[in-house]
Amino acid sequence: MEDLLALFPETYETSRECFRQNLAVIQKQWTAAELSHHRLPGDEDLTIDWIQSNALVKNEKILILTTAEHGIEGYVGSAMQQRFIDKYLPRLDPRTTGLLLVHAINPWGMKHHRRVNADNIDLNRTFLWDETFDPTFNPEYDFLNDSINPVKPIKNLAWSKLNFYANLLWKTILKGLPALKHTLLIGQYRYPQSLYYGGKEYPDETCTLINLYRQAFSAYDQVLHLDMHTGYGPRFQMSLVNSVLETTTSREFEKRFGYPLVVAANPEEFYAIRGDMIDYVYALQKHEFPEKKLFATSFEFGTLGDDLRGQLGSPRAMVFENQLHWQGAAHEKLAAQVKHDFEELFNPVARDWRVKAVADADQAFDGILKAECYIAE
Ligand SMILES: [Zn+2]
Repeated sequence: MEDLLALFPETYETSRECFRQNLAVIQKQWTAAELSHHRLPGDEDLTIDWIQSNALVKNEKILILTTAEHGIEGYVGSAMQQRFIDKYLPRLDPRTTGLLLVHAINPWGMKHHRRVNADNIDLNRTFLWDETFDPTFNPEYDFLNDSINPVKPIKNLAWSKLNFYANLLWKTILKGLPALKHTLLIGQYRYPQSLYYGGKEYPDETCTLINLYRQAFSAYDQVLHLDMHTGYGPRFQMSLVNSVLETTTSREFEKRFGYPLVVAANPEEFYAIRGDMIDYVYALQKHEFPEKKLFATSFEFGTLGDDLRGQLGSPRAMVFENQLHWQGAAHEKLAAQVKHDFEELFNPVARDWRVKAVADADQAFDGILKAECYIAE
């Protein structure tokens, strides 16, 4: 059990160092493997790192594993990436299988324990195939913005919570919970300091990843892409979240992978997203590489749970953390509590949670890699 817990890094820097040290091990199997990085502008030492290799004999298929698109989710993401490298990579066939392992799509967010990048952009709202960052998209967001983006410091946690829930209740009565959830989560392109903001153009991080994805499709006939996330779904059962552009049903995938919980990112099974990265990968395949085979999915490790408490606690923790970032708090203890709640939403410390998360990842890696013929039955 201690071994499993050691997978979870404490800081962005130690996680990156650990990732980079995998190169020598991977080169024993993939002799051509290389470590590359893209440095973000600014004074901080922040890089998107990746280990990449062609197949040794013939580029038939590639395995892509990405982490920390939502920065803070990269702590659990890195643990799962390391698990994959330790346990599953040795079972792939380097003669026919290439690799693209990406550490921290959003290194600023990972380092600073935020979900967004340095410009408050949710990168998973930026992967727009048509590049239309339309500020008028999702007009209903205006109705929510005052309650989720309060422009004053946090003074009292109990009072703020009461206020937040009362506001939410009132708005739920007016619009209904499904509509409210849809409006909040689908994304918006006009409030740069609010939640689920997608920005005005492709951010640096997004461009970097798009280039890597295009290279992968150019070089291989088959692409398998696994992307690591935390925060939504039941606390003790990781969900595989498929793109809405995937045509096979979730039930069919549950059977195929021998995995108990697969959902599609639509309002009925999960929630709808504009500018989703996995959707972009599907769009790229459809528009530019229709002859190539693709399966891409997100591992979504639930944290607070999907009961009412979890469903309300999750936006609450996100709203307060965002308010703290922009407006501050009356005192340090208050700030620490807000940060703690946010951390628990995306990187839970409980040992039993972490052990179960690794077990779920194992089950999913095993099922997917077998079904997609990356490892033998
Ligand atoms: Zn995420």
